[in-house]
Amino acid sequence: MVSKIILATSNKGKIKEFKEYMRDFEVLSYGEVMDEFEIEESGKTFKENALIKARVIFEKLKDKDVIVISDDSGISVPLLDNNPGIYSARYAGLPSNANKNLELLVENLKEKNVQTTPAFYTACIGLVTKHGEFSVHGWMHGYATTMPKGNNGFGYDPMFIPEGFDKTLGELDDEIKEKFSHRIKALNLAKILLKTLK
Ligand code: IMP
Repeated sequence: MVSKIILATSNKGKIKEFKEYMRDFEVLSYGEVMDEFEIEESGKTFKENALIKARVIFEKLKDKDVIVISDDSGISVPLLDNNPGIYSARYAGLPSNANKNLELLVENLKEKNVQTTPAFYTACIGLVTKHGEFSVHGWMHGYATTMPKGNNGFGYDPMFIPEGFDKTLGELDDEIKEKFSHRIKALNLAKILLKTLK
């Protein structure tokens, strides 16, 4: 059985998904064990940013037996040179505003005269433990649409249609996202790693 897991995120959507996907582990968000603070994401890749976030929290914790897990993720649109990518959370500037980010992406796609265009989500999960640092990735492919619909999920979900569906993640049930999202794919790999750690 692995030790306590602390999530290095304050994103409520991610916390909800992590806690649901990791029912078999003891998982707390870092905001439940210390005051939340701004973590500067100065990396150039999802992996660098995931490990920065997990490392900062691990270093602040007194208990080195805990495992800190972070997620750096985002949506990439090939038509827009894979933007917003690692800048997804701050696409429309800081402080991060999910509605403004989505509106800006819709606007930028409209300027390209498309209604739908291929897009994909990436998630990198970073793990910082007393045994060292690890990272795993997961991806979900589909389409970005300029006609957002639905309120399920979070972030860009109302404008993301997963491959094989004709509805956005905003309209589809959470259970569908839980089957094949970028985050669950990365988490399935993370769970294999976690089983090898004490
Ligand atoms: P991070 O906290 O820097 O990793 O920012 C991730 C951002 O990417 C979120 O704020 C969302 O804008 C976007 N994002 C990542 N994963 C998802 C998802 O599963 N659904 C919708 N938006 C997501």
